[in-house]
Amino acid sequence: MFNVETIRKDFPILSRKVNGKPLVYFDNAATSQTPQQVIDVIVDYYSNYNANIHRGVHSLSQEATDKYEQARHKIQNHFNAKFAHEIIFTSGTTHGINLVANGFSSILKDGDEVIVSALEHHSNIVPWQMLCERTGAILKVIPMNQEGELVISEYDKLLSNKTKLVFVNHISNALGTINPIENIITKAHNVGAAVLIDGAQASPHIKADVQKLDVDFYVVSAHKMCGPTGVGILYGKEEWLNKLPPYQGGGEMIAEVTFEKTTYATLPHKFEAGTPNICGGIAFGAALDYMNAIGFENIAKYEHELLEYGTQKLSEIEGLKIYGTAKHKTSVISFNLEGIHPYDVGTILDKMGIAVRTGHHCAQPIMDFYKIPGTVRASFAFYNTKQEIDALVEGVKKAKLMLS
Ligand code: PMP
Repeated sequence: MFNVETIRKDFPILSRKVNGKPLVYFDNAATSQTPQQVIDVIVDYYSNYNANIHRGVHSLSQEATDKYEQARHKIQNHFNAKFAHEIIFTSGTTHGINLVANGFSSILKDGDEVIVSALEHHSNIVPWQMLCERTGAILKVIPMNQEGELVISEYDKLLSNKTKLVFVNHISNALGTINPIENIITKAHNVGAAVLIDGAQASPHIKADVQKLDVDFYVVSAHKMCGPTGVGILYGKEEWLNKLPPYQGGGEMIAEVTFEKTTYATLPHKFEAGTPNICGGIAFGAALDYMNAIGFENIAKYEHELLEYGTQKLSEIEGLKIYGTAKHKTSVISFNLEGIHPYDVGTILDKMGIAVRTGHHCAQPIMDFYKIPGTVRASFAFYNTKQEIDALVEGVKKAKLMLS
């Protein structure tokens, strides 16, 4: 049974105080907190079998290699990839997107078209703009509406046989909108385009099945899903990963090196140059074990309750406007108090021990759409409570009084 009080005991950080007040951590969309079970795995790695992987004959190296490759298998199973070698370890979502964008430099031609959405994080905009500059490809944008949903009828008009690639996030970090990616993928495939889905915000809430989605690339960061920072994965269909050139050159990614010619390793090593974040990869596997033991359906159901409760309570505050009111959304509430800068609200909340994010959330085009400098974003995880939301509501009311 899902019991939030039992779950909270797994997270040591949740019992600390900030500015003399119990921490209320509502910045989960930026990074999630880490349970003791994952911290223990990190401590165990550095205490007992820290060694470089893949190239050692000694026992420690073999132990570390086994654990690292076991983590790859856990991640494969979690996302239901067909092969373990379709899981490429990266330093996170940003790295995964840049890897694919770099690969498409040798595929796209002048005049080809690629499609992004209006709801993207800068990580899923800038690498593609750089790709377009290099190749002469043209970037098209699926627009959004006031509710913060993509206008799919406009997407239909953008698609043509010139479209080579579509890249959209599964869930918007700034607004929490869950995008209809199944529909987006099917329509892209109908015109022969490949699809990359940025799963950074979806992975803590939804267990994506990459085979069922038939997605070509799916990227995530471990630190959004109870794992450590500096590690993530790129899932890519085998045929695409074989087609794309390597991203970085170096050790581990080669078959044979001479000064005349280098041949590359097979998947996944072709894309894993240098010593990876070994401990991070193993801890990512442990984080998935932890979340799967709680169950993604339980997590989604509970977080939805928090979302509904928080939306209702915050909406009752006069002069508070919520941005992003999509029918399908996750536990993110982006809001502003009329006439008050989000940064000021965030600073006052911090004094009360409440951690929220303020600013443009690396999604400036969304802020431009609403003609605002930024928002206050409260993002809830499965270890948050309604009492904490009450504390947020009280804090926002106090901030309003102080700043009006
Ligand atoms: N895309 C989305 C939707 C995100 O929310 C984030 C993180 N805020 C990123 C990409 C980038 O992730 P990372 O910084 O872990 O590479």
